[in-house]
Amino acid sequence: MSEYDLRTKKALRQVTLLEYGFGPETMKLRKICPECGRANGAQDTHCTDCGAALPSRTLYDFYLSRHRCCPGCGVAVTSIAEYCPECGARLPKAGVTQREGAAV
Ligand SMILES: [Zn+2]
Ligand SMILES: [Zn+2]
Repeated sequence: MSEYDLRTKKALRQVTLLEYGFGPETMKLRKICPECGRANGAQDTHCTDCGAALPSRTLYDFYLSRHRCCPGCGVAVTSIAEYCPECGARLPKAGVTQREGAAV
């Protein structure tokens, strides 16, 4: 849990949703409102609760940015895993984090 950013209740709520163990398919259908933390459908553009504009990223995108995930099937894997426990795909080297458009 310590790797998560728990500064705000909103972040805590997002983490809680992640820790419930939604599968990738479920998470792809969910978006989290940045204002109130409510889970909305991926097709929604605004929060059904508070009306705030929703990000284009789904819960799954958020999940991928927080976890090391298999490039083959998308499940979260441990930081020391060499092969995916679900599909057996070889995983990229541990410790390499995905950065959008940034040269490492
Ligand atoms: Zn909202
Ligand atoms: Zn896999």
